[in-house]
Amino acid sequence: MRAGDQRNGPRPDTLAVHAGSGPDPATGAVVTPIYQSSTFLYPAGDRALQYTRYGNNPTQTAVQEKLAALEGAEAALALSSGMAAIATAILSVCGRGDHIVAAPALYGGTHSLLDRELPRLGIEVTYAEDVDPAAWERASRDETRLWLWEAISNPLLRVADGPALAALARARGITTLVDATFASPIHQRPASFGVDLVMQSGTKYLGGHSDLIAGTLAGSAERIRRATELLHVLGGSLDPHAAFLLERGMKTLAVRMARHSENGRAVAEFLAGHPGVERAHYPTLPDHPDSGVAARVLTGGGGGVVTFVPRLTASETEALVGRFRWIGLAPSLGGVESLVSMPSMTSHRMMPAEKRRERGIPDAMVRLALGIEDPSDLIDDLDRALAGR
Ligand SMILES: *Cc1c(COP(=O)(O)O)cnc(C)c1O
Repeated sequence: MRAGDQRNGPRPDTLAVHAGSGPDPATGAVVTPIYQSSTFLYPAGDRALQYTRYGNNPTQTAVQEKLAALEGAEAALALSSGMAAIATAILSVCGRGDHIVAAPALYGGTHSLLDRELPRLGIEVTYAEDVDPAAWERASRDETRLWLWEAISNPLLRVADGPALAALARARGITTLVDATFASPIHQRPASFGVDLVMQSGTKYLGGHSDLIAGTLAGSAERIRRATELLHVLGGSLDPHAAFLLERGMKTLAVRMARHSENGRAVAEFLAGHPGVERAHYPTLPDHPDSGVAARVLTGGGGGVVTFVPRLTASETEALVGRFRWIGLAPSLGGVESLVSMPSMTSHRMMPAEKRRERGIPDAMVRLALGIEDPSDLIDDLDRALAGR
């Protein structure tokens, strides 16, 4: 099923429920069963190998078909984690002597992969100075094979001008890889503006219930064929039980994202107007540096992550984040329950405090990953905690 043509084809809400999730051909079960089997008998006269490490177990292929439809891509691959997805994607494009240009703000695990592991394989990385596409051209060389960015970055929620970057890269013959985890395929489908490989941490919004670890890739049939070849030998395959949970979670992706984003907008507007808050960051707030880009490249909302800086010291903020009734103190995002963390103690703990401040990430910064609770309860919780109660 192709979802590329959203005007005539089925809409994302319908695809989320139905794409890939046919009745089980063997039994008529409405839900794709968990084929908890490592291997499969050869069909008569056919020697095609069906083996769960290869990503062709029927519980895996169901989730892959659903994802391809939602991303509007020819093909998709499910992997054992977001990091397995990004590592497999990069190694499917780059080898010794190749060069990558990457966005300045990336997920911590991706930074470690680029800074510590890829140089050992002879792959060099340059970070573009900022989100401006001209900076990406300046950072590129003859050996540049890949441009890598995140649709919405953490924790400042900078929104990349994906269509501009994809067009520039294409003109130079450079492959593009986008980590679209914070947007999910509901708010952005990078394949629709020419991005070659789209990665998601399925652990977050796709799964949606903080109960699994998974990653996904989507792109052309040829790009996914090459990534699958690498999956065969790197082995980051998704277990059938996790594939089942991921597929089940994705059925409600569209309705969950609508509420995550409604909560994100409502909480961001509340915080932006609160006297105890120095600064609130959210892609659709008018004072956000990328609000214009966001209006062009994000459809239907800005996601469920909101960052703010209270008028408090870092240790007072530590007390604040322990005062919530509904919002649990934990890393990660994308689940139905709201979570809170402080980047200076989690995602950016390894960065020196001075560098953090330079990047606009003060020690008292708070990151909210809003769930799907009623926004009034979340706002009451924040209001009470900011009042010191
Ligand atoms: C969580 C996350 C990852 C890594 O995903 P895992 O499933 O934990 O391996 C990568 N990128 C972003 C933006 C993330 O939030």
